[in-house]
Amino acid sequence: MDGKALAARVRAEVKGEVAGLGSGVGLATVLVGDNPASHVYVRSKRNACAEAGIESFHHELPEDTNEEALLALVEELNADPRVTGILVQLPLPEQIDEARVIRSIAPVKDVDGFHPVNAGFLLQGTPTLLPATPAGIMEILAAHDVPLKGARAVVVGRSNIVGKPISLLLLAEHATVTMCHSRTVDLPSVTREADVLVAAVGKAEAVTADMIRPGAIVVDVGINRVGEKLVGDVSHDAVEVAGKLTPVPGGVGPMTIAALLRNTVKAARYQAGVLAFPGA
Ligand code: NAP
Repeated sequence: MDGKALAARVRAEVKGEVAGLGSGVGLATVLVGDNPASHVYVRSKRNACAEAGIESFHHELPEDTNEEALLALVEELNADPRVTGILVQLPLPEQIDEARVIRSIAPVKDVDGFHPVNAGFLLQGTPTLLPATPAGIMEILAAHDVPLKGARAVVVGRSNIVGKPISLLLLAEHATVTMCHSRTVDLPSVTREADVLVAAVGKAEAVTADMIRPGAIVVDVGINRVGEKLVGDVSHDAVEVAGKLTPVPGGVGPMTIAALLRNTVKAARYQAGVLAFPGA
């Protein structure tokens, strides 16, 4: 299931929406410190924004930035009408309380969808701004007409940014969802039940071919650097067993950026008053 081609289509669609919106769409990216992967991620997000006609406001802060300084910047961005979306790249240096920073972002500008208000709306079945990776995965499944109603879905991983939200989105589509994690007993027997298997483990090739039911749909969220290569959380020979599979690279990754762009436009719509943010 090629995410690259789908992402290109979504990005073109978003570009048209930005042009048609009539009001400005602006994404503020905040990068703290020297994490090389974070620099790469933020650069690709900013490039994608520029290509879609989204204005970019980039802020780079040094590694030793204290929490108060970062909170003050977020406060400024919350108040800036040109900034319709705010993205604070994670992870943050250890002296900063990540959860507190996420909570400081105005929920209506929270294009990462990590704020507890947006996470809560998702939990209650009234999605607002969705975390980009799970949103991108749902678009991939929809584009391939993967049947979810009544399907057995197994998610390996329970992080707030991938495992939990993708489980809720699959549940909303009436899949029967099982969430697995590091304490799951006999993981292979659970994963072999899956019609749809999502691997968000963060360990190179942790899901092996023998853990996959023949014909299952497999979504590989993992991005692991092994030497010079990027590998997923699913082993390379899974392709011989799975019905359909997302490649790494070129699967979930590109769709994550495309979904972020969708969120950025949605956030701008909330602020322009063309879409109502629940309770606002
Ligand atoms: P995370 O926060 O480290 O969570 C990993 C999850 O996997 C945890 O819930 C952990 O269980 C579980 N786990 C670890 N080892 C396990 C094992 N042996 N058996 C079963 N479960 C196990 O990672 P994340 O942020 O969700 O990311 C997961 C992967 O996706 C990473 O490779 C990351 O780089 C990638 N990612 C990709 C994108 C993209 O755009 N493609 C976006 C985000 C993340 P416990 O909760 O019990 O510890």
